[in-house]
Amino acid sequence: MATLGSKVRVIVRVRPFLPQEISSRNGDPVPCVSVLDQDFESAEDEVAVYLKDPQTSRKECYQLDSFFGVEDNNVGQIFSKEVSPMIPGIFSGCNATVFAYGATGSGKTYTMQGTKDQPGLMTLAMSMILSICRNNGRTANISYYEVYMDRCYDLLEVKAKEISVWDDKDGEIHLRGLSQVPINTISEFHDVFSSGVQRRKVAHTGLNDVSSRSHAVLMISVSTPSADGTGAAVFGKLNLIDLAGNEDNRRTCNEGIRLQESGKINQSLFALSNVIYALNNNKPRVPYRESKLTRILQDSLGGTSRALMVACLNPGEYQESVHTVSLAARSRHV
Ligand code: ADP
Ligand code: MG
Repeated sequence: MATLGSKVRVIVRVRPFLPQEISSRNGDPVPCVSVLDQDFESAEDEVAVYLKDPQTSRKECYQLDSFFGVEDNNVGQIFSKEVSPMIPGIFSGCNATVFAYGATGSGKTYTMQGTKDQPGLMTLAMSMILSICRNNGRTANISYYEVYMDRCYDLLEVKAKEISVWDDKDGEIHLRGLSQVPINTISEFHDVFSSGVQRRKVAHTGLNDVSSRSHAVLMISVSTPSADGTGAAVFGKLNLIDLAGNEDNRRTCNEGIRLQESGKINQSLFALSNVIYALNNNKPRVPYRESKLTRILQDSLGGTSRALMVACLNPGEYQESVHTVSLAARSRHV
C-alpha cells in the first residue's frame, strides 16, 4: 500500500520474450532484469530491481514499489494487486490514473489495451466499474482521446476532432466538447473503444505508426443523477494511459518531423516525471503546466487522487530498460 508521501506508485512489468526473440537467441534467452534474491533486505514496501547486461555483465540496481516478472500472468496480477484497490475510491470522488511507460515494443499496449484473448488493464477496470455500477445504480461514461504533438484529438468522434484544453476561473481543466459515451455492458465498451482504436490508426494520414508516438487516454468517469433529475453529477474518474514510447534520442537517429515528435514526447514524459517527483516528495509547487499532458491530468494526480506508473520492459533490451527504469526510479524517489 502507498505510504504517506508516496502518492504515485511506480512498479516494473517485464514482458516475456516473444517466440521469434527466443529462436533468434538459440532458444535460451537470458532476461536482462530481475529482482534481487528474497533474502536481500530491501526496505519494506520496496523492491530492488536489478538490471544486468548479458553481454558485458554491467549491472544497475534501482528501488521501486513492486515488480512483476515474466513468470506471472502479470497483467492480471497488476490489476488485482495494484489497480483494483484504486477503483472503489472513484465512486467517492477520488480520481485515479494508471500510466504505462516504456520504450516501443516493451508491452505498454499489451498491458493497457490487451488483446482479444488477454484483457488489458482497460478492460479489467471497465468490468469492475460496470459491476459496481450495476450494484449501486450509477452510470459509467467513457472518453478516449489522444495527445499528439501537444494537441488533443477526440477518438470517439467520427473524424478524430481536435479539442481544446481550457482552464476555468477556478483552475479546473476542461476538454471542450470531448465526447462522453455511456457504457452499460462490456460488449458496448468493446464496440465503442475499438472504433476509437481504429480511428487512432487512421487519424494521421501520411504519418506511419503515430500510435507509438502519441499518448492515448481512456477516461472512465462515474456519475450519479443529480437529486432534481436535471443532469449528471460526475463523482470520479479513472484515466488509463498508454504513453508514447520513451525512445532514447541518443540511440535513435531522428530527423525532421520525427525529431519534433520525439522532442515533444521527451518533454511531456520529463514533465510527467517532474510532476510525480514533486508529488512523491511533497514539494510545495507541482509543475503541472510544463506540458499539455500534465495540465490535462492536473485533477487526477495529487490531492486525493491515486496514481500508478507501470514501467514496461523488454527483457532483451538492457540499455533501453536502464533508460526506462532510471527515469521511473527518478520520479519515484526522494
Ligand atoms: P508497446 O505498446 O510498448 O510498443 P506492445 O504492447 O505492442 O508494446 O508489445 C510488444 C509485443 O510484445 C507485442 O507483440 C505484444 O503482443 C507482445 N507482448 C507484450 N506482453 C506480452 C505478454 N505478457 N505475453 C505475450 N506477448 C506479449
Ligand atoms: Mg503500443
